[in-house]
Amino acid sequence: MPASDTSTTGNTVPKGPWLNRMIIWVLTLCFGVLTFLLEGFFIRDIESMDGPDWEAFRSERVDASLFEQSEALAVTLANLDRQMKRHQEEQRILSDGSKNLQDTIRQLVELQKLSLQKELALSETDQQNLANTLNQFLETQTKFQTFNQTLHERAEQKRLAEDEKQVLDARIQVELQPVREAFQVLEHRHDMWLATLELLVLIPLLAIGAYLILKQSHSAYFPVFLAFGIATLIKAYGVVRQYFPERYVKYILICALLLGVGKVLIYAIRIVAYPGKKWLQKQYRQAYERFLCPICEYPIRTGPRKFLYWTRRTVHKTIPHQAESANDEAYTCPSCGTDLYEECPSCHQVRHSLLSHCSSCGVAKDVKTSA
Ligand SMILES: [Zn+2]
Ligand SMILES: [Zn+2]
Repeated sequence: MPASDTSTTGNTVPKGPWLNRMIIWVLTLCFGVLTFLLEGFFIRDIESMDGPDWEAFRSERVDASLFEQSEALAVTLANLDRQMKRHQEEQRILSDGSKNLQDTIRQLVELQKLSLQKELALSETDQQNLANTLNQFLETQTKFQTFNQTLHERAEQKRLAEDEKQVLDARIQVELQPVREAFQVLEHRHDMWLATLELLVLIPLLAIGAYLILKQSHSAYFPVFLAFGIATLIKAYGVVRQYFPERYVKYILICALLLGVGKVLIYAIRIVAYPGKKWLQKQYRQAYERFLCPICEYPIRTGPRKFLYWTRRTVHKTIPHQAESANDEAYTCPSCGTDLYEECPSCHQVRHSLLSHCSSCGVAKDVKTSA
């Protein structure tokens, strides 16, 4: 069947100006980023749902009076501390005063000694002074003792309160332990619920993205699908990473990568094993450019190249530039027997047998795609 309409298919779609393509790629990137942000808003809204409340959970299960007692004890301890500090301060002031009194007494006694040596009686005032000072000194000493006693009592009270609080706190910890564990279970359940909701949003989007990428790979809108798919995939990966243990995430990631690499690998192998029309034409074109048989790579030795030998690598060194002219006679590969140049049925010039269009008149022919 003469397929003259093949000229409108395949590689003849124009690529468009450079600036246009550039703008399309930039906008595609923006599209991907915005998709990512939008999905992020959904996820954040889901995450803002209220979880279990620790205070309420605890007060339902542990006797609140225990906490009240512990707090009361803490207040008592703080009070005792304050009182003791005040007493110590007062004691210090007293001790300074008593030192002064001691000095005064010593001076007065000296005075008395001197008077006795000189056989003079101490004056009335001095005797009175000495007696007064002695009294004050004794009073101060008594006060000092009282403070000491009080301090001792406070220290004892503090020690008892501390012991009591320690026992109480230990008991609270023991009672809290199972409650804390139960709460962790509750929190984990809440996290799983959030993860489920988030994945319920993301997985359908991911499926749509994967479907579009796989099934619409030849569509002009492919970059948009790709941006959408990649953005959703990154978001989904983030969610999975946040909620599930690292070791599971590792497996998911490696499986996804295997799937992707496998897909590309299969595609590459298929292209080599069952080349499509477009791919085969490219291969044939490259072989003709090097004057090699597209099927077996044996040199096409016609015209001025009759006595030369070259390979794919040496072709540009071996063949002089002016010798790269078109063939003017039909030619069959002597190695594999494939027709490489033949007469065009339309214009009767010689044309490439394995390329789709005649180089003289442009008429198209259906080149067989299996060698
Ligand atoms: Zn050949
Ligand atoms: Zn022709």
